Amino acid sequence: MSYVNLVTGGAGFIGSHLCERLLERGEEVLCLDNFFTGSKDNIAHLMANPRFELIRHDVTEPIRVEIDRIYNLACPASPIHYQYNPIKTVKTNVMGALNMLGLARRVKARILQASTSEVYGDPAVHPQEESYWGNVNPIGIRSCYDEGKRVAETLFFDYHRQNRVDIRVARIFNTYGPRMSIDDGRVVSNFIVQALRGEPITIYGDGSQSRSFCYVSDMVNALVALMDLHDCTGPVNLGNPDEFTIKELADEVLRLTESESELIKKPLPADDPVRRQPDIQLAQHMLDWTPQIALRDGLKHTVDYFETVLSRHNYGE
Ligand code: NAD
Ligand code: UDP
Repeated sequence: MSYVNLVTGGAGFIGSHLCERLLERGEEVLCLDNFFTGSKDNIAHLMANPRFELIRHDVTEPIRVEIDRIYNLACPASPIHYQYNPIKTVKTNVMGALNMLGLARRVKARILQASTSEVYGDPAVHPQEESYWGNVNPIGIRSCYDEGKRVAETLFFDYHRQNRVDIRVARIFNTYGPRMSIDDGRVVSNFIVQALRGEPITIYGDGSQSRSFCYVSDMVNALVALMDLHDCTGPVNLGNPDEFTIKELADEVLRLTESESELIKKPLPADDPVRRQPDIQLAQHMLDWTPQIALRDGLKHTVDYFETVLSRHNYGE
C-alpha cells in the first residue's frame, strides 16, 4: 500500500532522511517545515520527485490536509536552538501536538510522535527503560524541551484513550549524521566542525558525562518500522546502546580527522544529564531492529559530509 505521509520538521536533520526513505519506499510525502533549524538544502534533491511536496507552515497553527500517516518531528532539537525562544519551544511541542493529533483524529491517520530521551531528564536509573518515569527539572533551562515533550506524550495518550487515535510514541536518543547543520550546536557536529577547522574542541565540564550515539539511517529504519507495526502505541526507546563519554567522543573525532585541535574545557550547562543509555530490548523485540552502524563508521560518514560542506563554504558557494 502506498501511503500519503505528512512529515513535520521534514526539512530538518532526521526529517529529511525520513522523507528520503519514505520516497524510496514508493510513498508520497508532504514535508511541512517553518525552516527555523531546517533548510531547503536538506531536501533540494527531493524537490523534483512528483511524490514529494513542500509546505512552509508552522505546526503551532492548525492545518487541514488529506493524509494517511503523520510523523510529528517539528521541534528544534539542539539545546542552543530550543533555548533561543523557550516559550516558542513549548508552543511547538504542545500546540504542535494538539494540532497534529486533531488532524489525525479528523482524517483517521496514524500518528507518530518524535519524543526524546530527555523525558528521563538526568536519569537516576541506568540504562533507561521505558517504564522509568524520569527525573526532570520542571523550571530549568532545558524544561521547555523536556516538559514540552512530556506534555506531548501525555496528549498522545489522552487522544488515544479518549478519541481512539492510532498513536506511536518513539523516545529518540542522541542521533547524528549528515545534514546536521554546521551551527547546530550539538556535540557531534560541534566536535567535527571544530576538528576540521583546526579550532579548539570545546568539552563542556570534565568530559566524563556520557551519551549513546545512534547513526541517522538506523534511526530512520526504526521510525518507519514502528509506524508500520500494526498495534504498538509505545513509548519505545530508539537509540544505539553503545555508550561513550564526551571525552572519548572527542578523541575518536580527533583520530578520524587527523586534526591537531586542542581540547579545551568550558563550563557544563545547567541540568546537563550525567549519563544516558537506552535500554532497547522492547524495540529489538517489537520491531526486530538493532542499530547496525558503529560510532566510528557513522562518524566517518559524518566527517565526509562536513568536509564537503566546509569546502563549499570556503569557496563561498
Ligand atoms: P532539527 O532541528 O534538525 O529538525 C527540526 C525541524 O523542525 C527543523 O526543520 C525545523 O525547522 C522544524 N521546526 C521547528 N519548529 C517548527 C515549527 N514550529 N513548525 C514547523 N516546523 C518546525 O532536529 P532533529 O535532530 O532532526 O530532530 C527532529 C525531531 O526528533 C525533533 O522533534 C527532536 O526533538 C527529536 N529528537 C531528536 C534527537 C536527536 O538526537 N537528533 C533526539 C531526540 C529527539
Ligand atoms: N557538549 C560538549 N561540547 C559541545 C557541545 C556539547 O561537551 O561543544 C556536551 C554537552 O554538555 C552534553 C553532551 O555533549 O553533555 C551532549 O550534548 P548535545 O547538546 O549534543 O545533546 P544533549 O545534551 O541534548 O544530549
